[in-house]
Amino acid sequence: MLRIAGRLLIVFLVTLPVARAQEAKPLLQADERYKADILVVVAHPDDEGAVTPYLARALDEHRRIAVIFGTRGSSGANEAGAEQAAALGAVREIEARNALTSLGISNVWFLPGKDTASQNVLQSLANWDHAECLEQLVRLVRLTRPEVILTFLPGTFIGEDHGDHQASGVLATEAFDLAGDPTAFPEQVAAPMKRLEPLLENLRPWQAKKIYYFPDADREDIFRGKGPSYSVKEISKSSKQAYWRMALDSFRAHQTQAKSYIDKIAQMDEAQIEKLATSKDGWGEDQHFVLGKSLVGGSMTGDIFEGVTPGAIPFARPEISAEPVLAELSVELAGPWSFYAEFRHAHGLTNLPQPEPPEIALEARGTVVIPLWIRNHTAKTQEVTLSAVLPAGWTVQSGTGRFTVAAQQVAAARVEVDLPALPENAQNKSTAQEVSVRAEANGKTIGEAKLRVELRKRTLPQ
Ligand SMILES: [Zn+2]
Repeated sequence: MLRIAGRLLIVFLVTLPVARAQEAKPLLQADERYKADILVVVAHPDDEGAVTPYLARALDEHRRIAVIFGTRGSSGANEAGAEQAAALGAVREIEARNALTSLGISNVWFLPGKDTASQNVLQSLANWDHAECLEQLVRLVRLTRPEVILTFLPGTFIGEDHGDHQASGVLATEAFDLAGDPTAFPEQVAAPMKRLEPLLENLRPWQAKKIYYFPDADREDIFRGKGPSYSVKEISKSSKQAYWRMALDSFRAHQTQAKSYIDKIAQMDEAQIEKLATSKDGWGEDQHFVLGKSLVGGSMTGDIFEGVTPGAIPFARPEISAEPVLAELSVELAGPWSFYAEFRHAHGLTNLPQPEPPEIALEARGTVVIPLWIRNHTAKTQEVTLSAVLPAGWTVQSGTGRFTVAAQQVAAARVEVDLPALPENAQNKSTAQEVSVRAEANGKTIGEAKLRVELRKRTLPQ
């Protein structure tokens, strides 16, 4: 071996000066195997099912697709085996990979997020290690260089209730705005200083062109006309099957989450499976997207790739309008609601629908927590009185009464309200009712925080 290596070296040394004189050496380029047209960012294994009918269509159109999961899905019941916790996560990673491989998607990554049983996106972001996940996601956007990012809607609605789903949408939006910024995680875009560079990554900044959201919300009214819709019943040119059917076949990989359902489908004949597309199972429903933002124009309801042409576009620093002017003394709904108001503002998401008043579904006989910011921008301590206006049978547990807020301070307060049982005639849920917390100071109302609350038999904790 050594002798051969020696001979090769001599040949190399002899030919090198000649070659250099003849042609310039190409510098290494980004790896084309990882270039994506569409980057999907979701929370858990099986969440990709929210968008696989569209992905099947996009694959027909020769789009390159990469998918990122926030967690490995290590919580919940296991319908297929005894494995639990981290072991279940290891199983579900493979199920998600298999689901996507069945469609032809193999560029799949997992962030180090952990399943969070909560409707509160802020708890999910804390549990995921927001900073670590964002750094990794920005890296993957720079690696995959997507034209378009598709993700869950970052917002809180009745139905849009999993904090982890929302967290994937928050992170994807942040990565959309950061990946093109050479000063964000600059070590990722720095060129190597050594031959075998161990620290600097040699990625380039990348500005994706569009971001679209898929909503989970029960209501559809406020989403109409906010983005494109796609029929899932059209037949794929490549597989000769309907897109919904390709999505259903892909879903069969998720044994730990839905073995009984998958087994049931396995017993069905074609006609029975066909009926699924028209049942309220959801497989036959059109896929709706909400346009988050486009840096390349195109219409609100036009095709996802409308306006997208090959090649990089310059980094677009998000345009921020002026901060809203608040009264000197004010009260507002805090928690995820005030976060999302600031988030939409910071990321220029002017198209994103939101319910007014805000809404949430919670378990009957449980508690609703109404988080508040009390802002005192006056020069002296102020006394603020909080009182609740509630539907009959709902009772304040804590948090109302008189409080003081020091000068120039913003204080967090919290009113907790005990919820009644579901009405006798209600099946699984009641119609939403309004609760409000009124704040008074110096004999005047300084603000009111309203929330529509729907009671259900079962929900994720608030
Ligand atoms: Zn999920």
